[in-house]
Parts: sequence; C-alpha cells; structure tokens
Amino acid sequence: MSSNTTFNITPSTTPASAADREQKLQAIQFGRVFTDHMAVVKYSNGTWHDPEVKAYGPLSLDPSASVLHYGQAIFEGFKAYRQPDNSISLFRPEQNAERFNRSAHRLAMPSIPKELFIGAADALVKIDQAWVPGGSGESLYLRPFMIATDPFLGVRPSNEYLFLLIASPAGEYFPQGLKPVSVWASKEYVRAAPGGTGEAKCAGNYAASLLAQAEATQHGCDQVIWLDAIEREYIEEMGGMNLFFVYRKEGKPVIVTPQLTGTLLPGITRSTLLQLAADEGYAAEERRLSLTEVREAIASGEISEVFACGTAAVITPVGLIKGRGFEVTINSNENGPVALALRDALLGIQRGTAADTHGWLHKVALA
Ligand SMILES: *Cc1c(COP(=O)(O)O)cnc(C)c1O
Repeated sequence: MSSNTTFNITPSTTPASAADREQKLQAIQFGRVFTDHMAVVKYSNGTWHDPEVKAYGPLSLDPSASVLHYGQAIFEGFKAYRQPDNSISLFRPEQNAERFNRSAHRLAMPSIPKELFIGAADALVKIDQAWVPGGSGESLYLRPFMIATDPFLGVRPSNEYLFLLIASPAGEYFPQGLKPVSVWASKEYVRAAPGGTGEAKCAGNYAASLLAQAEATQHGCDQVIWLDAIEREYIEEMGGMNLFFVYRKEGKPVIVTPQLTGTLLPGITRSTLLQLAADEGYAAEERRLSLTEVREAIASGEISEVFACGTAAVITPVGLIKGRGFEVTINSNENGPVALALRDALLGIQRGTAADTHGWLHKVALA
C-alpha cells in the first residue's frame, strides 16, 4: 500500500519566544532542550498514515503498550548543519533511513518509506529552522525513533507503531577543546553476540551497555571498549562509537577499523571516514583486530593513533586503553594528526566550507 507522504502541519500555539530560544541557544544543553515541534507518523493495518508535524509534547500510551514490556524500540541520530549561505543541510540522511529499516527488520518492525523518514526531517527542520544554531561545532541533532504501541501483553510483534522525530540543538562537543578520552576494555560484559542485535540501533543494546559503562567509570575511564562475545579478545567498538587505529607503515598512515562481523553497529561516520581516508590517500583496512595485537603495536609505536567516531562527537581521540592488569598510553595522550585531518575534512563538508564531492549533503527546502 502506498503511503501519503505529505505532512500535515499544526503549528504549536505555545512556541518558545525568540528571546527564550536565543537564550537556550547561547548555552546549549544537548539532549535536554527540544525544538517547538515534533513529527509523528502512525502505523496500523499494515500501513503508515497521518504524517503530521505538531507541538512537541508528551505522548499518551496505554500502560500495556508492548514497547514498555518487550522493548520493540529502535532509533537513529543525524544532524542538520547551518551552511555559510544560511541554508540548512542534512548529512547523508538516506543512510540513516536505510539503517533504520535494517534495524526495524531485525526487531520484526515494519519498514518506513524513505520519503516519510526524510520528509519528517525536512518538515521539522523547516518549521523549527530558527533552532538550527550556526556557531562553530554547532548543529541540530535529529532523533527519529519507532516504538511498538499495541496494548497487548502477548509476546509477538506489535501490529501498531509510532514513528517520531524530535530535535535537540547540539553545541560544540568539546567546549574545552578536543582532548583524548580513556577507555576500559571490558572482559566482563559484552555488547553484542553473533546472531543478536549488535547491528541494529535498538534501545535494548543501550540498556544492556549501562552497567559496563559504570564499570569503566569505576576504573577511572571515560568510555568502555567492547570485545567480541566469544573470545573476549577482538575489538569491536567504543561505547556508541566505532574505532579506528592508525598504523605507520614506511612512514605512511594505514587506517585500520574492525570489520563488520554482524555484532558491530555499522556507523555512517565510519563509512564516511573510510571514504575520506581514501580521498586523503591513506591506505585503509577493515579486518579483525585483537586486543593483544593492539597492545603490542601501541607499545612498539607501530600504532600512532587511536580514535573513535560517531555522529554526536564526530571524531574523539583515544589516549589511554586500560584493562585488567594493563594500561597503554597512545601518542602521549595527545590528539594525533590523522584524527585531526579527518575531523577537519569531515566537519568542512558538513558545515559547507569544503566541497561536497560525494553528494553527502541534503539541502532542506526552507521556503
Ligand atoms: C550510532 C552508533 C554508532 C555510530 O554510528 P554513526 O552512524 O556514525 O553515528 C556506533 N556504535 C553504536 C553502538 C551506535 O549505536
């Protein structure tokens, strides 16, 4: 059945005043402040219907709604960037739409047409365009998600769903300047196992990660590194970000990232950086990487940099890896040149100060 993809717009009757909005954009509190509107699309009887943009506000859910019991919930994250000519562009939103539908498939949820997924972002950014900050490192973070709403306690896929899109202004991720993080390699907990939901951006993966994150904090680390579930040896990811290791071979950087085995989340920043690395003339490899290999290569100086990447922070250098009985410092706990070069290249494209040669920007029609 084809879906209606025109969003019905009902403007908020209580939007933030210009002064209130400006004040919130001066001291951005990521993830706490939301724009005036949200997009909602309903799913029932096998079809998506009634796409609308309306005032941001609480949902009304039946207490038996299946998402509250069995966790059919998936999400995405991407950003709208203010461009030098004051227009606004989304970065690779079709990639998020495709991944959202792969996540939906894994959680036995319906896929949503790309036109609705991107159309929701276009409509929300258009009506809330004054909320897109234009300062250095700033953006509007877009959070699409889907939840199962059947009022039924039986264990089976829901028949009814809600797709929602909310937006939160995002400031400079490192207001004190970019600085390496420390990571704890957890052998106690795993994020994902073969055949599980590691490739899907589902809420439950995050619920299961919180205790490991707390363990990392207890060891004085900022983030957790996930190892494979079977051998607890192969490096997969860092928290909610993908990882890159920079080797030096004959003086030239070779960028290595853990290969996608089905238990890693296939990051869009990850795939973007693989392309940008090729553009910069760096060799790149996707392969399995053991913690032992990495520890030895850091100790010998063969690995000169480690960094993590994701939509929220773009690129975060890693300065220290710790685990039971070991600790290795990378690049004297300083930001490395390859991480900085790739970060500048990516931010330049996102902010429209560098040529978008791969056609990654999606311009939002604001008029
Ligand atoms: C979202 C996410 C990433 C990063 O994906 P991007 O598309 O680059 O933002 C990496 N790992 C996990 C576990 C994630 O949830």
